[in-house]
Amino acid sequence: MQHLLTRITVWPLLAALWLLAGHAQAETNVQGARIWPAPDHTRLVLDMGGEVDHSIFTLDNPSRLVIDIKNTRLKTSLGRLDLSGSPIRRIRSAPRNGDDLRVVLDLKHSVEPRSFQLAPNDEYGNRLVVDLLEPGGGQDEAPSKPVLSEDPNGKRDIIVMVDPGHGGEDPGASGPDGTHEKDVVLPLARRLQALISAQPGFTAKLTRNGDYYIGLRQRTLLARKENADLFISIHADAFRSPQPRGASVFALSRRGATSETARWLARNENQSDLIGGVGGVSLDDKNEVLAGVLLDLSMTASINASVGVGDHVLGNLRRVTHLHKPGVEQAAFVVLKSPDIPSILVESGFISNPQEERNLKSASYRNKLAHAIWQGVSSYFEDTPPPGTLLAWQKRHNGSIASYRIRRGDTLSGVARRNSTTVNRLKELNNLSSDQVVIGQMLKIPTS
Ligand SMILES: [Zn+2]
Repeated sequence: MQHLLTRITVWPLLAALWLLAGHAQAETNVQGARIWPAPDHTRLVLDMGGEVDHSIFTLDNPSRLVIDIKNTRLKTSLGRLDLSGSPIRRIRSAPRNGDDLRVVLDLKHSVEPRSFQLAPNDEYGNRLVVDLLEPGGGQDEAPSKPVLSEDPNGKRDIIVMVDPGHGGEDPGASGPDGTHEKDVVLPLARRLQALISAQPGFTAKLTRNGDYYIGLRQRTLLARKENADLFISIHADAFRSPQPRGASVFALSRRGATSETARWLARNENQSDLIGGVGGVSLDDKNEVLAGVLLDLSMTASINASVGVGDHVLGNLRRVTHLHKPGVEQAAFVVLKSPDIPSILVESGFISNPQEERNLKSASYRNKLAHAIWQGVSSYFEDTPPPGTLLAWQKRHNGSIASYRIRRGDTLSGVARRNSTTVNRLKELNNLSSDQVVIGQMLKIPTS
């Protein structure tokens, strides 16, 4: 009798303690797993039934990473994951303490791990992300920008950083047929990079060249690290309804620039490399007001240049696709916020529109888009080549090239006649395959 009483009073207390300790949390399952190898890190993603309580730690000799997840069962095979290109040799797992799960990654070499959870998006549910950063990869640190002393007789290449949007765990927008934005913008960006790099006086690089994610700030840092003269982010739009269509080009908005200026000034570190590209001015020794003015000037110049490039690009896109808006739009996109690098974002079309989804999946259509973007970039830089570049040198020595926007009633032969040149010279200079021109198209014109 005495015994029974004790049991009756103790049980609710134990149950309450058990609840407090979090053991009543519903069990979750690992339903799937993916690996995204990138040049400076590898991302392991576990699909979870909900948010989880987890911890990670590393062990040496041999290098291992241990992932402990509370109240979780493994309902997928981790052994099927393709580990090529990653530092993982093997993945093992076992239940632990009854309800918990332990996953052990046997590593080829030590890594710097970090982990976080992602909320559901269109494509996936709750996820636990474990990043294996290559040691010394410097993911978050701003590379210092060498101060350029422009050689007026220099013949350096114009550097263009091409940025395929999204990637890896972030698919971007999706089309009615299930096409992911990340998968069409990558080949489009690669094509553009190849076209640009094939031209004397130009070098183009990619922020990502595979199916992995890069943070938005990291993309602008990569452009800075390469001393880029221009940053072009490539995306595809989406809307709730299937009707909207057409390409658009964005530059940074004034409002976005103002908040970015404040952000830079609020940061104490890395200010010395801030506007190194614009005449090599350092903000280190300037008082706050002067630093603000200089930064503002740099921002304003960059936005003006961005709108200028965007205008040339739109004029050429008009030849190959419908335009969503007639002029360059301005918005506060994070990737456009470099204070000293002209930056544009090209929405190559609406992937939510069935016809444009089909177009974007076609290599020959993407080739047309890439050509149009390249033509715009090229005519912009021929108008205003950055000092110290081969293009600037050529402009001084070989006479120059002007640009002309086609108006109503213009013909290629008419434009050639008015500028004392030939149709063939114009076709060659503008990479045209026919005599056809359309209103708004930008043409390069040789001037003597
Ligand atoms: Zn996008």
